[in-house]
Amino acid sequence: MKRLLEEKYAIVTGASKGIGKGIAKTFLDHGATVVITGRTEKDLKAAVEELSAHGPISYIVADVSKADEIKTMISTFIERHGRLDILCSNAGIFPMSLIENMSEEEWDYINTVNVKGMFLAVKECIPLMKKQGGGNIVITSSITGPITGFTGWSHYGATKAAQLGFMRSAAIELARYGIRINAVQPGNIATEGLLSMGEDYANTMKKSIPLGTLGEPEDIGNAMAFLASDLAKFITGQTIVVDGGQILPESSDAMEVPIEE
Ligand code: NAP
Repeated sequence: MKRLLEEKYAIVTGASKGIGKGIAKTFLDHGATVVITGRTEKDLKAAVEELSAHGPISYIVADVSKADEIKTMISTFIERHGRLDILCSNAGIFPMSLIENMSEEEWDYINTVNVKGMFLAVKECIPLMKKQGGGNIVITSSITGPITGFTGWSHYGATKAAQLGFMRSAAIELARYGIRINAVQPGNIATEGLLSMGEDYANTMKKSIPLGTLGEPEDIGNAMAFLASDLAKFITGQTIVVDGGQILPESSDAMEVPIEE
């Protein structure tokens, strides 16, 4: 297999678990040096231990809802590695809440983590990437919001659509510096966060996916590695949906029509 990210230095936010950990593993397998971040040190330590056989990996404890911690996260990365080629803005939360019960605090908090956290991390990287003559930013968005909807996830969907709105203008603004920015839109991926919603949820989702299974975190990692690599050197401001075909059926019947053998 051709390794896509040899000699690249990457940071993946929210990567002690789930999709972020899968992205980190894929980046390592493609030759990158990786730093993972999150709020819980023991989970970060465990992830580093688990992934260290795949390549050079370390962690930084940082909460993306706090501007000062994002600043320290990026400056610590630069002290450690001297350059930053890839920012993967992945940290995100997806609590459920009905609009009529949703507090202003809930609305603000999910926007702070999912949207402001992304904006601040991107902002912090720009001077470094400009000085280096370029860089790559990849964002974990979702199908929920930009394409689909789900009761209880209006605030979440709004944040995932906002990420893509930000990305499209950022792509134009940053192109002059050789900085590309793209996003991946995962469907339902078997992560700790998703599985915590229960077996019933996972089974219902499986039934709505034409390929018949939940995705794996590495499925997102593969799309991210492509977008962050030179194979995608003419791609910016774009998204890849990685969902097993989930957004395609016009109705649940679309998957039930028998096919004559
Ligand atoms: P997960 O299993 O819950 O893992 C979330 C990771 O983010 C953990 O490492 C967590 O560690 C970290 N994190 C949470 N809040 C953070 C904060 N404020 N600052 C820094 N790190 C934080 O979630 P996941 O399913 O992998 O989801 C990851 C991303 O994929 C999210 O952006 C989500 O919207 C997106 N996504 C997921 C799915 C899916 O099916 N799973 C589908 C579409 C999109 P700590 O809690 O220790 O900080």
